[in-house]
Amino acid sequence: MTQFDIKKMLAGYDKKNLTIATVCSHSSLQIFNGARKEGFKTLGISVGEEKRFYDAFPLGRPDEFFIVDSYKDISRYASELQEKNVIVIPHGSFVEYLGAKNFLKLNLPTFGNRKVLLWESDRKRERQWLESAGLTMPREIKDPTKIDKPVIVKYHGAKGGKGFFIAKTYDEFIKRVDKDKPYIIQEFVMGTRYYLHYFYSPIQNNAYKLSKGSLQLLSMDRRDETTIDEVQRLGSIAELEEIGIHPTFVVTGNIPIVMRESLLPEVFRMGAAVVEKSLELFGGVIGSFCLETVVTEELKFKVFEISARIVAGTNPYISGSPYSELIQPDLSTGRRIAQEIKYANKRGLLHEILS
Ligand code: ATP
Repeated sequence: MTQFDIKKMLAGYDKKNLTIATVCSHSSLQIFNGARKEGFKTLGISVGEEKRFYDAFPLGRPDEFFIVDSYKDISRYASELQEKNVIVIPHGSFVEYLGAKNFLKLNLPTFGNRKVLLWESDRKRERQWLESAGLTMPREIKDPTKIDKPVIVKYHGAKGGKGFFIAKTYDEFIKRVDKDKPYIIQEFVMGTRYYLHYFYSPIQNNAYKLSKGSLQLLSMDRRDETTIDEVQRLGSIAELEEIGIHPTFVVTGNIPIVMRESLLPEVFRMGAAVVEKSLELFGGVIGSFCLETVVTEELKFKVFEISARIVAGTNPYISGSPYSELIQPDLSTGRRIAQEIKYANKRGLLHEILS
């Protein structure tokens, strides 16, 4: 979608009655709660029926449910949603359920820059972006016979770490790999994991200043992954592997975390470099994004992934994090998104943050 399209579409909107919408999953409770705090109406897109558990969370429940037959069909309802002055907040599940192609074609104003998807969903381009920004990524092993240290094998498009496995030797690799699915082999980085939640505004200059706009750090989390994070309750990984039990990396939740303060300058350096490069490559990674990192014992960051929208790791911070508290009390990522839309709307800048 071009900027011209977005401007034209917004021209038909009643700007005093914008509705914040997303798919009922992932971080939707937080998004609806944040939008509500900023005075927006909210709409939850759901398949088949209203989700009952929202009744138990009145401050996270959307004002209105919009029921569809299947997420892939959301495009069919675009004009109905436009009449409700809907602005879509994409999250990981939103893009996953809809499919990248449908998402790119979705005829609705969407928070953030959709062009980022082309750089983020292709592992080669993702590496090109992050490495050209000066970030260090885990080494990639092209020839599996050269495996001489622990590696992690990642299948393409596997969301939430499903199917990934660790191998320490070529033999282990060959025993476990499914060659029918495309995969990459990456150095398994030893260290502690930090998932850093940034917010980039191209239109506000009140935070860490960049060539255009400014950058905030709202929070950070560590993912809770089954079975790797608790498997040791049963025995060492080596013992378990001997009897054919292999650890898996399926995300089941998120744990709040705070980093030693001396690492914060590097956190901002990395975030800033990623944004500056994104401005050059495709017009900018706008709004929330997350760098998924491992900090080694030399206190160096290795970045194994970028997620270019709100991540579920922000969910523990619905009433603020130890970082966002230093920006404004009670500031979640969901609320920050709503604030950005409100700010842009007041100044006629919505086209700068929506695509
Ligand atoms: P998502 O898209 O949901 O972020 P994904 O399926 O693309 O997930 P990754 O985030 O790349 O998967 O990896 C899943 C998990 O595997 C990570 O959360 C982390 O625990 C572990 N992991 C990934 N890469 C590495 C690495 N190079 N070294 C050590 N652990 C890793």
